[in-house]
Amino acid sequence: MNQTLFISDLHLCEERPQITALFLDFLATTAKHAETLYVLGDLFEYWAGDDDLSDPYHQIIVAGLRALSKNGTRLYIMHGNRDLLIGQDFMQACGANPLPDPTVIDLYGQTVLLAHGDKLCTDDVKYQEFRRQVHDPAWQKIFLAQPLTSRKAQISGMRQQSEQEKSHKSEAIMDVNTEAVARLFGDYNFPPLLIHGHTHRMNRHALNISGHQCERIVLGDWYESGSYLECSMQGCAMQVITAT
Ligand code: MN
Repeated sequence: MNQTLFISDLHLCEERPQITALFLDFLATTAKHAETLYVLGDLFEYWAGDDDLSDPYHQIIVAGLRALSKNGTRLYIMHGNRDLLIGQDFMQACGANPLPDPTVIDLYGQTVLLAHGDKLCTDDVKYQEFRRQVHDPAWQKIFLAQPLTSRKAQISGMRQQSEQEKSHKSEAIMDVNTEAVARLFGDYNFPPLLIHGHTHRMNRHALNISGHQCERIVLGDWYESGSYLECSMQGCAMQVITAT
């Protein structure tokens, strides 16, 4: 069975044991039968640096991903805004291939563009400013040079601030910007499909961009339930999974 799966926005953390169990079960069952699994960002609620790999919770996730890749499912992981500090050590430990944001792939003969999606939320000017800062390699180098406990404390502060700010931001501001989406399609010569996450607004949007028929598929988050996009020669379908 030739299938490729896409997931994003799991926001895994120790405080959500049910979703963690659902994810590990997904890896050991559904994903095991797929040829490729793409994680399009925000696998973790936050990632303070690869020196946090030895954390027992992180070891459980790594073991699940490593078992999957060892069994023969190709594994690709893209950074999200929550886990952009995932480095080579984590990728290696999981047997994963890092995936740049954006990336173009050939999916059963169709050109498909993959992205996390946060770069498309251009209406949120303050967030884009923050994004530029944390994506700067110089900023990352200085940040990662600090002790792990200090990094974790700073990330916790950033998360609190972000939650507070989000409560004042409108729903529209936090969604993708139509022109930014059109520009991204244009930059890649109008591929028929874009798959992204980040907004947690699971949906399929049929678009006409400069005369081209395109589709934008938004992956769902793993909060109340899990979900994945399942693609084969026959096309793509969104699947929702719930904890039993
Ligand atoms: Mn995100």
